[in-house]
Amino acid sequence: MKLNTLHDLYVDQLKDLYNAENQIVKALPKMEKAAHSQPLQKAYHDHLEQTRHQVQRLEQIFNELGESPTGKRCKGMEGLLEEGEEILTEDADPDVRDAGLIAAAQKVEHYEISGYGTARTFAERLGFTKAAQVLQQILDEEKQTDEKLTALAESSVNTRAKQ
Ligand code: FE
Ligand code: FE
Repeated sequence: MKLNTLHDLYVDQLKDLYNAENQIVKALPKMEKAAHSQPLQKAYHDHLEQTRHQVQRLEQIFNELGESPTGKRCKGMEGLLEEGEEILTEDADPDVRDAGLIAAAQKVEHYEISGYGTARTFAERLGFTKAAQVLQQILDEEKQTDEKLTALAESSVNTRAKQ
């Protein structure tokens, strides 16, 4: 893909996010299964539903652009998920594993927050007002998920992992 314009870069970034989201859809059930704390399981479960809906909204954006969402592998997300999944194979105490799972999930959310912030700004600059609103909405969901994970870690998981 040739990147001559901001529009080209916008599509390229969206493809990256689309691929990242699809990788997350595959990874979240494994994380949910590995989580020991029930609220953490639920957080993964809820975010899976939300992530599926994010994929659909990205498809809608591609539709309106007349572009295909496929054709890119998000290597950043691949690396984050690969690293996050290392904890699944470790012989870890359940509460310590939960703390590790939260740490990995927050890295994923921060990567997404960064990507959606950029994509939203490009959409605004290019005059795609509706897409910018949708991207802002997804960005807000990622931020809320990050905050929920912080709250879970601070309220119980880290305390139990310390004992
Ligand atoms: Fe997402
Ligand atoms: Fe997310």
